[in-house]
Amino acid sequence: MGIRRDLFAGEVLYRQGEPSDCAWLIEQGAIELASVQGRRTIQHGVLGPGELIGELSMLDGAPRSATATARVDTVLLAVEHDQFLERLEGSDPIVRTLVDSLRRRMRALMAALPEDAALPAEDVAIDDPEERSGIGKIRLESQLREALDSGTLEVRYQPIHDMHAHAVRSYEALVRWQLPGRGPVSPAEFIKLAEETSLIVPVGEYVLDRVVEVLVALRDQGVSPLPSIAVNLSARQLVEPGMARQVVQRVQRAGLPEGALKLEVTESRMLDYAPVAAVMRHCREHGIPFALDDFGTGYSNLTHLHKLDFEFVKVDQAFCRQMFDGPRAMAIVEAIVAMAHGIGAQVIVEGVETREQLEALGRLGVRHAQGYLIGQAAPVHEVLSGEAARGLERVAAG
Ligand code: C2E
Ligand code: CA
Ligand code: CA
Repeated sequence: MGIRRDLFAGEVLYRQGEPSDCAWLIEQGAIELASVQGRRTIQHGVLGPGELIGELSMLDGAPRSATATARVDTVLLAVEHDQFLERLEGSDPIVRTLVDSLRRRMRALMAALPEDAALPAEDVAIDDPEERSGIGKIRLESQLREALDSGTLEVRYQPIHDMHAHAVRSYEALVRWQLPGRGPVSPAEFIKLAEETSLIVPVGEYVLDRVVEVLVALRDQGVSPLPSIAVNLSARQLVEPGMARQVVQRVQRAGLPEGALKLEVTESRMLDYAPVAAVMRHCREHGIPFALDDFGTGYSNLTHLHKLDFEFVKVDQAFCRQMFDGPRAMAIVEAIVAMAHGIGAQVIVEGVETREQLEALGRLGVRHAQGYLIGQAAPVHEVLSGEAARGLERVAAG
């Protein structure tokens, strides 16, 4: 079943009595619901854009209680059973009990109605902004699933300058999603949404597959030394059962050298150290190093550095931005760099936008710089043609 459905006026979406496995979100057009009770046909009304249909059947798997027909040309998005149940199972037990009790009561009420009574449509118009934003999320999640299936997520590569080698020797893979009618959606928005369910797992696998493909292509072109490419993983992805094994398998199957693939751990919640440490150990044994991302902000803290062995520390871009605000700001950057070096990690500073920043970082002994000065995240063909690696030369020439 496709995730998006286009119906002509008069076409039937589903019939009364059919089994159901998903609900539908109306994107455009209108759907009429009608059921046959004895000899009578009862109209339950017409639903329009932004409304859900069939959600009750989706919840309990009971057959469709009415027939849904497109009134005009209509576009729908499927809200799959699993997609919803996963959220329900992950929700507060009280909310779960409440939903279940309401569902049973609704079914009991419907069963107790006289044969010819008009059944209430399962669906009501939504005016509440909170519910609207829920619908927005359902839509985004369905569209993201579709993007994964159709391969329309793009992975871009931001170059990282190595000050010892005076060249770009690594990249960070950053995912981009071009949403028709909405323009590019920031990963800051959809990664968070994907992380709320296991959808983050296929997103991560998708990015990983693209990155391995690029590394293989570069190797086949004879590029030497092979750059390393970092993939972002949230701790939730990292501890997903089988994740570490899959990452290692992909690298081994492609025959990539040690260090070609790097993992960046981005943290939005508190880390549970033991499972993360186990995964890191397994990957490291197979030549996959780790970077602690966004160091110095949010949940990325000193305890992480204490409990886990990172080969790289990525200093959050806020520090680079504020470096020249005064001696205190500079002293903090200096201290972070000294500390990272003290535990044997290399430092990558993010958000480097000016020559002055780059030179100051060089004086502090920072080895790796990433930011718009070196280059923005570039499409894959620029990496493969070597164009994306010519960051600073371009700046020097301009
Ligand atoms: P991040 O890992 O901290 O990535 C760096 C972000 O800073 C990127 O934003 C990048 O475009 C931006 N940036 C780089 N250089 C500069 C600069 O010089 N100045 C400024 N102002 N910004 C700069 P982007 O691509 O929007 O990514 C946002 C976040 O989304 C990433 O933050 C990362 O946490 C997450 N993300 C991106 N791709 C993936 C992915 O494949 N998987 C996961 N789990 N998360 C991802
Ligand atoms: Ca990152
Ligand atoms: Ca970062």
